[in-house]
Amino acid sequence: MSKPKIVPLNSGNLTTQSPQSFTCEVLRSSRKTLALYISHKQVEVRCPHRASRAEVQNFVNSNQQWIQNRLQEESVRFQESLRIEKGARILYRARELTIEFREGRKQRILINGDRFIIQGHKLNAAKARVQVEDFLIDKASEYIIPRARGLARYLGVDRKIREIKLRKTKSKWGHCTSAGMIQYNWLIMLAPYSIIDYMITHEICHLIHMDHSKRYWNLVESICPNYAHYVDWLKEHEHRFWF
Ligand SMILES: [Zn+2]
Repeated sequence: MSKPKIVPLNSGNLTTQSPQSFTCEVLRSSRKTLALYISHKQVEVRCPHRASRAEVQNFVNSNQQWIQNRLQEESVRFQESLRIEKGARILYRARELTIEFREGRKQRILINGDRFIIQGHKLNAAKARVQVEDFLIDKASEYIIPRARGLARYLGVDRKIREIKLRKTKSKWGHCTSAGMIQYNWLIMLAPYSIIDYMITHEICHLIHMDHSKRYWNLVESICPNYAHYVDWLKEHEHRFWF
C-alpha cells in the first residue's frame, strides 16, 4: 500500500458560522471513502487520492457540527483529567471528592466525607502522587488478584493463568494473552467495585474465548449481567482516572 501523503488544506480555517475555528489535515491514500478523525485537538480528513478539494471541503463543511462537538468534548475531558494536587477534584468510586494535603508522620490516604486526604511528611505534589500510586497498587493487589484467580477457579480455567500483572498503561484497562498472561491497570481502583469486577471478568473470560465474539459476551453476561452499563460508564468517565 502506498504511503499516505499529508497535504495541508490551505483554507482549513473554517470560521464561518462556527464558534471555534480549526485546521484540518488532509491525508490521501488508496482508501475509497472520506472519513474524519479527531485526536488531541487535531482534525484529520482521510480521503481517496482522487477526491477533489471541493469534495473534501464540502465533506468537512457538512460535518462541522460533529467536529465542533467532538473538539468541545475533548477540551472538557482535558480539563477534567486528574491532577494530584491540593484542592483538585478526584472521581473516586463514582463520587467527586476534593484532594486535601495533611501534614503527618504516618503516610496514608483517608476518605472522609467529600475529602480525599493525602497525609504525609512535608508533602508536595510529587510525593503526593507517589503516595496515591502506592495506595492504588496496594488496593489492586489485595482486591484484583485474588478475585481474578477465584473467578478463574470457578470457571475451571485457573491452570491457564501464567501470571497476573498490575501495570499502569497509557490507555488500556486490561489485557490477556493466549499464553495466560493477564494484566490489569491499577488505576481501575479509582472506579466503583462493580466496574472493577467487570474488568476482572472481562480478562478472565478471555481465557475461554480469545475474542470479542457473541459467545464471549454471553459468558461475560452470565457472570456480570450489567456489563453493558459498565462499559458505557467507563467510556464516559475513564478519562478522569489517568494521571
Ligand atoms: Zn477484551
